[in-house]
Amino acid sequence: MSGVTLGNVIKRYGDVQVIHGVDLQIEDGEFCVFVGPSGCGKSTLLRMVAGLEETTEGTISIGSRDVTHMDPAQRGVAMVFQTYALYPHMTVKENMGFGLKMNGHPKSEIDQKVGEASRILKLDDYLSRKPAALSGGQRQRVSIGRAIVRGPEVFLFDEPLSNLDAELRVEMRVEIARLHKEIGATMIYVTHDQVEAMTLADKIVVLRAGYIEQVGAPMELYRDPDSKFVAGFIGSPAMNFLNGVVKEGGIDVPALQTTVPVKLPADHVGRSVTIGVRPEHIEVDRAGKTHSVDLSESLGGVSYVYLMSETGEKIVVEERGDERSNEGDTVSMRFDTGHVMVFDGETEKRIRF
Ligand code: ADP
Ligand code: MG
Repeated sequence: MSGVTLGNVIKRYGDVQVIHGVDLQIEDGEFCVFVGPSGCGKSTLLRMVAGLEETTEGTISIGSRDVTHMDPAQRGVAMVFQTYALYPHMTVKENMGFGLKMNGHPKSEIDQKVGEASRILKLDDYLSRKPAALSGGQRQRVSIGRAIVRGPEVFLFDEPLSNLDAELRVEMRVEIARLHKEIGATMIYVTHDQVEAMTLADKIVVLRAGYIEQVGAPMELYRDPDSKFVAGFIGSPAMNFLNGVVKEGGIDVPALQTTVPVKLPADHVGRSVTIGVRPEHIEVDRAGKTHSVDLSESLGGVSYVYLMSETGEKIVVEERGDERSNEGDTVSMRFDTGHVMVFDGETEKRIRF
């Protein structure tokens, strides 16, 4: 078992640099999730760890070994792809054992390892089937099984659940979490889905345009984001952002028709800022008459109420309980200023106060 260390890792395709000096320490046995919007460099970074992409500059170590320029097969990693990449003419059992067979492992050992992976993944009843006769979730399980039998030090997953429907995705997410608990190996998992990141990760790495934006435990990123980008990316529905200007006694927020009484340092007066409040931290005030309800989406246990402000800025509020707002209502909002975050209007970095 081994951790993974990236030191000033850079990737260039020709003249175009897509990874800009990433430093990262992933601990032994940790479940680390790379998350970020499409094109931010998640797969590139993962493929560099796998050895499927050449590292232009910097170093990658697994445990105490510098693997930067090693062959993929020598690195002690196994990768699971979005597209499963199973051999259609082989059975489940043959697919899982193929890598070991190619490397000349004895049949008894292959049978034992495939048996163990099959038990972990509950594939015992499907071992003699071909991939065409499996559901998407079962196919992805086989490709995870193929990774397990290789006994890697590090598992690498690139959006493994993206091809599954919503229900199966949730089911497989739980399975992968269980797998990590049972095997205890270091895992790096790439996804653009912040819910997967939140639910699976010990450590989330938020990537943005080839840079690390922030690294932290899921609840650290949720509670204490360093930037508007992270604040907006983690949490669903996303945090509300409203423009404001810093005054003596607080922040003047036109969309709320009020001054939010948060005290920033005196030298901030006059600055443009963005305030952020999460939907779950705002309450509808039915006595107020400042905002019209554009839409109310009820999911059953919770409703998402979309309010329109005179500035044209939308605000989403989470409502629970028996009394819910309806389209066409006119209401106001209440929130605790302890839940307000402030971001610099230009740099979008968090202003802590
Ligand atoms: P993600 O997985 O986060 O969606 P990628 O790592 O696939 O993003 O891509 C990161 C950036 O690198 C993108 O801008 C993409 O266009 C670019 N890129 C990826 N592969 C290549 C390639 N083979 N040649 C040139 N640019 C590439
Ligand atoms: Mg990708």
